[in-house]
Amino acid sequence: MCMRLFRSDIYGFWEREVRNWKLGKRKGSFAARFFGIDDRPSKVVGAGGRGAVCDPKRVRVCRAFCCNFEKFGFAPLNPFDVILLSRRMGLAPVEFLDENGVSYCLSSGECSVSEVFKLAKQANGYCMFNVGNPTYTCDIYKYRPLECKNYPYSINIAYLNSLLMVKTCPGFERGRRISLEEAKELNERTRFSTAMISLSFNVDKAVLRRCLSAKRFGEVHRNFLDRLGVPYAGPVSTIDIEEVVDRIYDTAGIREALAEVELPQDKNYVVEKVKRLYPSLQTDDN
Ligand code: SF4
Ligand code: SF4
Repeated sequence: MCMRLFRSDIYGFWEREVRNWKLGKRKGSFAARFFGIDDRPSKVVGAGGRGAVCDPKRVRVCRAFCCNFEKFGFAPLNPFDVILLSRRMGLAPVEFLDENGVSYCLSSGECSVSEVFKLAKQANGYCMFNVGNPTYTCDIYKYRPLECKNYPYSINIAYLNSLLMVKTCPGFERGRRISLEEAKELNERTRFSTAMISLSFNVDKAVLRRCLSAKRFGEVHRNFLDRLGVPYAGPVSTIDIEEVVDRIYDTAGIREALAEVELPQDKNYVVEKVKRLYPSLQTDDN
């Protein structure tokens, strides 16, 4: 009897812990608090919930955790990030992407068909655009990739295709409450970003396998840019967004990528979105 009571207490306690953990009410589970670690789950973002805050003071405290690729994954690039950043650097997109050259960007380097373009890192593990100690700020802040702008929000396709706030950001749940309009905007922007990143998977798979096995990454990059129809003979000065979208629309699987994140699969929608998210692509301000 005594034993049964004891066990049900434990189960009751455990169920409460799990329920609170799922509801996000706990600042970590009992075990996590006991061992002094934070195991709060990343949180589904909705209207009325607290958002995250990232300000220069906080960046000093967190030491730009999200820009440290030793500790935190990587910063993936979509085609429009590549075009914008290469303009900014005064390089042709292929030079920006060329691993053997300036090395601003690397492909994943693994012999995998799920190739993704990402920013290269410095010897200290930080993104090559992070200025490091003591401010840890981003040297290209205005032109940073869309995924950097979205962080700590991201879409988790495997988890109900939902918008999540990533708990590893120290600004997690420290911001003000999010309105319905903000939640919608965040949701759409992160979905769009996820879809555009997946376009870099759509390089020609046969070419990709051949180049990766021979470690000829430059060829992969050229193939990618050929598909985008982006000239790589010199720095791109003016960008016709409609033309770029037009060129990649039927070959790069945009429709499938948008469908996966439940966004409209309309060419005009993509053009309008890119124009809004990349205003400096339409001006000479590079
Ligand atoms: S581009 Fe800027 S914000 Fe993005 S990872 Fe690099 S330093 Fe950080
Ligand atoms: S998004 Fe979060 S982890 Fe990244 S710099 Fe801002 S506070 Fe730090």
